[in-house]
Amino acid sequence: MITEVGSKRLSLPRKFFSHWDITSRCNYKCRYCTYENRDEGFYDYGHKLKIIHFYECLYAYFDVDLILFGGEPTLDPDFLKVVERLDTSLYPLQIFTNLSQPISWFKELYKKQRYIRFIASYHYSMCDPKEFMNKVKFLLDHFYEVYVKIMWDSKYKAIIKEVYTMFEPLRVDYSDFVLSIDRIWHEDQRFNKFDMQWYKEEQRKNQRLQTYYKVDNGIKYSTSFNEIKLECDGIANYEGMECDCGTKNLIVCSNGDVHHCLTFRKNHFKPLFNIINDRYTDYLYLLDKNIICPHKNCYSEVAVPKRKP
Ligand code: SF4
Ligand code: SF4
Repeated sequence: MITEVGSKRLSLPRKFFSHWDITSRCNYKCRYCTYENRDEGFYDYGHKLKIIHFYECLYAYFDVDLILFGGEPTLDPDFLKVVERLDTSLYPLQIFTNLSQPISWFKELYKKQRYIRFIASYHYSMCDPKEFMNKVKFLLDHFYEVYVKIMWDSKYKAIIKEVYTMFEPLRVDYSDFVLSIDRIWHEDQRFNKFDMQWYKEEQRKNQRLQTYYKVDNGIKYSTSFNEIKLECDGIANYEGMECDCGTKNLIVCSNGDVHHCLTFRKNHFKPLFNIINDRYTDYLYLLDKNIICPHKNCYSEVAVPKRKP
């Protein structure tokens, strides 16, 4: 087993959770979107092949649980080619999508790869719920798992409750279906105590809505940035805490920049390295130690343990 990169020793084996933003482009314009460069052009296949080679190199050192992300990743014209190349021997390939592609496109995807977990975000202002539901059923019948995340935009809060209720029966019909809600709060339309009563009751019935966990030292963390924001009444501050994202998390941006966490990218920190321009094997040792969080806010959607150093 390889335990060294250059002269730096790596502690193995270990699992990395990685986002690859194949493209930042998105065809939707949700008003709560925090993504930048939604009109970005697409990179050519040669560029993406270099990123695939990087992942192939990582597979030699780490177990990599990969999620294809965006923008809307399925818009990338090379998406099917990329999926065909990626290794799914350890984990299902995860695709985070708004499900705007037609069913005919998903049929093509099925021919290339079936071991896929979809994380499908539903955006009420952009998409008809029945059309979305039909696609979810198709995916459930053909692929590995579907996780639907309904964006509970407070502007349309009553109708989105109905949409959630419409999806509920699928939880009984399909064991590989997961349903959750991600609250999006706006100044002009707040959630009131009746909304929260409803939400708490749903949380009792559906474990996956209980987005909060406690780690050993009692620090809460969540898989939802919006939930953290609401619960903290502001963005969570982990400045000065030791964070496992240094050894568990990897964000690969569409231009090939690599960061430990989403927050580093959003704050335009200098990347750890760039896959396209740098000899990345010289930098892999940087993935081998936890970091002390330098931020006053955390945008991480991945549950990364943090602790007092
Ligand atoms: S679908 Fe997602 S990436 Fe696209 S605009 Fe909406 S929130 Fe942003
Ligand atoms: S901002 Fe990054 S380093 Fe800081 S707590 Fe969040 S995930 Fe960890």
